[in-house]
Amino acid sequence: MPGEVSLAHNGVLFLDELAEFSRRTLDALRQPIEDKKVSVARVNGTHTYPAGFMFVTAMNPCPCGYYPGPKCRCTDYEIIKYRGKISGPIMDRIDIQKEVHPVGFFDIENQNATYSSIELREKVESARRIQQDRYKDEEGISCNAQMTTSMIQKYCELDADSLKLLKEISEKYGYSARVIHKLLRLARTSADLDGAEKIRKEDIEKVLSCRDLDESNSKMMVVK
Ligand SMILES: [Zn+2]
Repeated sequence: MPGEVSLAHNGVLFLDELAEFSRRTLDALRQPIEDKKVSVARVNGTHTYPAGFMFVTAMNPCPCGYYPGPKCRCTDYEIIKYRGKISGPIMDRIDIQKEVHPVGFFDIENQNATYSSIELREKVESARRIQQDRYKDEEGISCNAQMTTSMIQKYCELDADSLKLLKEISEKYGYSARVIHKLLRLARTSADLDGAEKIRKEDIEKVLSCRDLDESNSKMMVVK
């Protein structure tokens, strides 16, 4: 009987309250997220199942859930410990990390959506078509997320300004090659969504804003 990661093959695996999962469970996710397959060792041998899924997850900013608002009663130490449950290697594998803040009931009416769901769907479908066309000669590749390192070099060329910006931020937060490759794949997608042939500086700025947790975690200090 396949487990959750195989049942999610070709679909979405959504884990709510990520910090509530055990470290062992979270670490077991690393291989399937990276290799798109999972190996299970049993008495009669090792079995490999497919596990190519989109990983989506949510968690509170702190144990009580109210950080950084005035209602939060957690200490910095508690917050760092809570966030520390998600190890660096797992964080590295999450392409888009966004902090969402509570919206006041009376503010919702004033918010105009930038795109309707229909418009967004059209943009996504068009970006997908661009990618299928781009990778038609690359075996087993149909979208930006699947680009190998050599393909990133081929399809994600940056101008001098974009390269400088990416380098500065990567040095500031100590990004690994894995994270930089993820950012480049995302930048390619950002350009594709606008139908732009080359990755622009605004794409790099946009993807760097997809790493909210790096910035927020770097602001936290342990008070002893
Ligand atoms: Zn709290």
